[in-house]
Amino acid sequence: MSAEKNLSVLRHSAAHLVAQAVLEMYPETLLTIGPATQDGFFYDILPQVSLKEEDLEKIEQRMHELADKNFPITHEEISKDIARKIFNDNRFKLQLIDEIPGETVGLSRQGDFYDLCRGGHVDRTGDIRHFKLLGLSGSYWKADKNNQALQRITGTAFFTQEDLDTYVKQKEEAALYDHRRIGKQLNLFSFHEEGPGFPFFHPKGKLIINLLIDYLRQRQTELGYKEIATPIMLSDELWKRSGHYAHYKDNMYFCTIDEREYAIKPMNCPGSFLIFGERPHSYRELPLKLAEFGTVHRHELSGVLHGLMRVRAFTQDDTHIFCTFEQLEEQIIEVINLTHEVYTRFGFKINVGLSTRPANAMGSETAWDQAIDALKKSLVAAGIAYVLQPNEGAFYGPKIEFKIQDSMGREWQCGTIQVDLFQSENFDLTYVSSAGTKERPVIIHRAIYGSLERFFAILIEHFKGQFPFWLSPVQIRILTITDDQKEYALQCIAACQEAGLRVDFDRTSDPISGKIKTAQIEKIPWMVVIGKKEMQHGTVTLRYADGTQEPNISLADLISKAKRLAAQ
Ligand SMILES: [Zn+2]
Ligand SMILES: [Zn+2]
Repeated sequence: MSAEKNLSVLRHSAAHLVAQAVLEMYPETLLTIGPATQDGFFYDILPQVSLKEEDLEKIEQRMHELADKNFPITHEEISKDIARKIFNDNRFKLQLIDEIPGETVGLSRQGDFYDLCRGGHVDRTGDIRHFKLLGLSGSYWKADKNNQALQRITGTAFFTQEDLDTYVKQKEEAALYDHRRIGKQLNLFSFHEEGPGFPFFHPKGKLIINLLIDYLRQRQTELGYKEIATPIMLSDELWKRSGHYAHYKDNMYFCTIDEREYAIKPMNCPGSFLIFGERPHSYRELPLKLAEFGTVHRHELSGVLHGLMRVRAFTQDDTHIFCTFEQLEEQIIEVINLTHEVYTRFGFKINVGLSTRPANAMGSETAWDQAIDALKKSLVAAGIAYVLQPNEGAFYGPKIEFKIQDSMGREWQCGTIQVDLFQSENFDLTYVSSAGTKERPVIIHRAIYGSLERFFAILIEHFKGQFPFWLSPVQIRILTITDDQKEYALQCIAACQEAGLRVDFDRTSDPISGKIKTAQIEKIPWMVVIGKKEMQHGTVTLRYADGTQEPNISLADLISKAKRLAAQ
């Protein structure tokens, strides 16, 4: 049994333990399901009276008492008839019994507690020692909001106290640097009841988004990408043709205008295809790299919305590269290198996965093999190690997935490079080859940031709000000791602005210590302090966010130093 499997056995056993404790304390409670999750477990229950956060401590205490009793945990197979009698007062378990295939179901026991379960537990309740209940939230039976509302107790368990402590510390750190909290503190963005899940970017937040776009746009231009823009809203027929209607209808927004049905785009791809297909192409034009910073709308359930991490409208750095099969490898290498360069600039570690042919694949096996081969060769040529993810490709082609690891050790899936073997046929896209024949281009779908909103959220948490100099909305703040230095301060500001630096001036009458405090809260990387002495000598004192100082630098030196840093 692998360590991971072991951990999920332990956590699922901890879910039974929480259920046992809850039933002892609140006997009228109906239990539903209690699986292990990626980093813990949950149990969804229907109590007689809703539980409150403060009840968790008592439940946790009772779990420890049950662990101390060290009951053996046993498992047996029983007939469905017997199971129906045992669970006759629990409509959820009765439904589960009906849904389980076969004539028997599993029953686990510990002390006088029993639960419907297919098995996979630790031997005794005493094996479950290092656990913590993490919270209480709402859920629905079978995760369907039309069903009975339930309460979810979430927790985690580890084999050692040390592992549990580390996990709890990481959780606390993550909560401390939650992008929603920092976003408010730094005045970057907000959400309003008038548009649930639709972010509002404030000037400083929008500035950072623009800097991210500017950076990528400049690199793309250098690599010969052409930027396009396609409509937010397109006719229903288009989405039916692209397959989005069939696969994605439940997440799309629709409207009717002049008795014609339209959908708000959930993806940018079909817009690019219409542009490519609009006129004949020669092989000489390929590769054609059509880039779009395209805003898409996807209807997500309100329960899964999470700050900028999960929103209903977001902008993708989408590119569709139309090329020949022969060009596929070099194009993919170029995209891999660009992706690598972008992530490295932010200091992320990168893990790469290659997803291959799924069961529902479209197109010939030969084409798939060729495409997968090209992806593998490109990864090797770019010197990137990867993990093979068998059968995880999309139905229309294989893909490379980039996962970035942030400063708190968490992994986020962001960029993808996807080879499309289907849509050029579907949209009848062609080019004329050097031999004069009509051929289908291969399409590469590529995104590096993925969703700019989500990438921004990841950056906020990764940098803990302290953005690098080039991304800081305000790079330099001028602070004067008294109002006497105001004229000189204005000269300094003008010189910094002239050099293209983002600078502002604390005009309050606060003492210098207060001005420094404010700049620290706003996480401004450079403070330039000006007093009587600095004014007399025509210099400034540079104070960094970490409190270290460089006194007596000339304005010219300050500016050249800042410009160097801004270019990094
Ligand atoms: Zn179980
Ligand atoms: Zn696409």
